[in-house]
Amino acid sequence: MSFQPVLLIHGGAWAMPEAEIAAHERGIANALAAGYGLLERGASAVDAVEAAVAVMEDDETFDAGRGSFLTQDGRVQMDALLMDGSNLRTGGVACVERLRNPIKAARLVLDESPHVYFVGAGAERFARQHGMALCDNMELVIPREQERLFKAQAAELAGLPDETFSGSLSAEKLASHDTVGVVAMDSTGNIAAGTSTGGTLNKAPGRVGDSSLIGCGCYADNLSAAVSLTGWGEPIMKLVLGKWAVDKVAAGASPAEAAQAAIDYLYERLGGHGGIILLGPDGRVGLAHNTPRMAWGLQTPAGPQLGVTRNG
Ligand code: ASP
Repeated sequence: MSFQPVLLIHGGAWAMPEAEIAAHERGIANALAAGYGLLERGASAVDAVEAAVAVMEDDETFDAGRGSFLTQDGRVQMDALLMDGSNLRTGGVACVERLRNPIKAARLVLDESPHVYFVGAGAERFARQHGMALCDNMELVIPREQERLFKAQAAELAGLPDETFSGSLSAEKLASHDTVGVVAMDSTGNIAAGTSTGGTLNKAPGRVGDSSLIGCGCYADNLSAAVSLTGWGEPIMKLVLGKWAVDKVAAGASPAEAAQAAIDYLYERLGGHGGIILLGPDGRVGLAHNTPRMAWGLQTPAGPQLGVTRNG
């Protein structure tokens, strides 16, 4: 049986300023082209997800790969997860500092390791042993992010509200969440998901958010759905929200209903904010966010669609 390929992407959910919209749309269009091109040539969902995420890691617009938000001590520290819904094979890395494409390291873990998840120096060593080049952390740091960190730390010193970890609505308008995520279905009907992030601005070194944790910021199972999230990671983790959402689909909700229900639950239970993309095993998709804006792209045989959705 042959299925219609589907690729759905998010490029962050936050109060994205007008001036940043074009760059987000361009980055998402490039990722759609790379991922969907593979699906059209018969590649697997997991190949398409990896390729689309890697394009956005290479794009400084997003909080993933080079151009990521910086830790308190001015370094890039990244997390990524890749999951194959056909067999639940999964690869994750966290707190990596010397890899340009953490999603490619996650792919190596998925393919080559009996383990599922590596962190820090061990993750980098695993990637290097499997052929990936290591870079200097400073190659991933860009001036825009040094400036952003400087402003966040100055605000902290001045006693202004912490825009990174607060869940208040006013903080929601300030905080930026530019993590990237992709879900895909291939022509054999298998689904996959991937999420990659530099985490939250001014995070403590060693902090891991929801993005790369199985069932939190990413999950895929042919028997339920594929999901990727972005937003304030701590509440998303506490609710294991990705798994919560795919279980809703397995229980009969449409991906659109489950996506909205997950974002409502996040806010009602913990005052959290963020965005979610969901893809069911029948190819239906859902997207929801409670941040002022969310950048997304969708491609099916009907063609690509992309945009930055506004709330309210
Ligand atoms: N969820 C990510 C984290 O908390 C941040 C983001 O989505 O931008 O690490």
